Amino acid sequence: MSTAIKKQNGGEGAKSVVPRRPILVCGGAGFLGSHLCARLLAEGEPVLCVDNFCTSDPESVEHLLSHPNFELMRGDVMSLDEGQFGDVAAIFNLACAASPVLYQRNPLDTFFSSVRGVDTLLRVARRCGVKLFQASTSEIYGHPTVHPQSERYWGHVNTVGPRACYDEGKRCAETLCFIYRQEFGVAARIARIFNTYGPGMSLQDGRVVINFISQALSDAPLTVYGDGTQTRSFCYVDDLIDGIMRIMGAPEDFGGPVNIGNPAEIRVRELAERVIKLTGSRSRIQMRPLPVDDPPRRRPDISLAISALDWRPRTDLDAGLMMTIRDVQRRLRRGDMSLRGTKELSSAATPLAGVNAI
Ligand code: NAD
Ligand code: UDP
Repeated sequence: MSTAIKKQNGGEGAKSVVPRRPILVCGGAGFLGSHLCARLLAEGEPVLCVDNFCTSDPESVEHLLSHPNFELMRGDVMSLDEGQFGDVAAIFNLACAASPVLYQRNPLDTFFSSVRGVDTLLRVARRCGVKLFQASTSEIYGHPTVHPQSERYWGHVNTVGPRACYDEGKRCAETLCFIYRQEFGVAARIARIFNTYGPGMSLQDGRVVINFISQALSDAPLTVYGDGTQTRSFCYVDDLIDGIMRIMGAPEDFGGPVNIGNPAEIRVRELAERVIKLTGSRSRIQMRPLPVDDPPRRRPDISLAISALDWRPRTDLDAGLMMTIRDVQRRLRRGDMSLRGTKELSSAATPLAGVNAI
């Protein structure tokens, strides 16, 4: 079941006046999805955004609702009927919780959002004869034994750990894309996205950059998990969206998977120190236990993205962090979300909605 939240002509069931076949963006109200919808609209494309709001809410795309080419629908990719969409011009699938603290709250929903979701969307792509973009992840490399990670590396993933619902769901989704490509010629294109941050992330998301910025701006301790020597490589959201657009604009025979991320690697503890410095905060660092199966190192080899797509990230970490800090400051001033919610996140038990919610 899906529900139209806003149709540009104002009525559910009324004939849409969107002039051309829309681009379907599933998970379009999330952090990356909302940036992607904005970019597609700016390029003149009509957009149909479908989301079940399990990690976002309609307010995340409030700024897009008045756009005449934007349509928002509440729907769950796990239970969508492939026949309920008319013709679409392309499909972007980003529908899956991405923050470890959120995707582990309801592992069945996380797993099946990836698996059932992409299966249904691949069938829509096949029927419409259009390209499908699949948001895969660096998590498919698991605890990498190869560094940096190139697409040729098959990964090292625990199938029975707390991250498996996400990692294995995403690996399975890649396999489904591969099968539909081989068997039915569906133009499925896969990006393995490495840690991405930027303006618009929910203050309750729980991922490291937004946690550190929220904590620093309230002079609360920055929670560094483990000893903080684990590394990540952070990509600014505008660079990432540019990469996604290039993947979808690439020649017919390009399907990926391709790594999209910023190879500048940093230890988590150094990230905390950087955020404290950039915010001018009086916060100190507080060590917390390392979550189970937290990958120790992560850095993309982006040679393929450079050679095949002429893509490389442009925004360095300090510049990207400053833009994110200013955005959080603005939102806090507007009273968008209390900092209290962010600090309580790790202990709160908020069941997510969905067909598999327990
Ligand atoms: P996000 O949690 O902000 O956005 C995900 C969106 O998908 C949310 O709006 C959520 O409500 C929606 N969603 C989840 N399950 C759904 C379902 N069953 N049906 C419909 N909508 C559903 O996360 P994000 O950072 O924007 O990530 C977007 C995509 O990119 C995800 O697929 C994620 O795995 C992938 N990715 C993101 C990163 C990153 O660093 N941001 C890294 C690797 C991969
Ligand atoms: N992390 C941390 N403090 C936080 C949140 C995360 O130290 O408040 C660490 C986490 O243990 C991991 C890294 O930061 O090593 C990145 O975590 P995130 O949840 O952003 O994404 P991941 O890359 O683990 O999927």
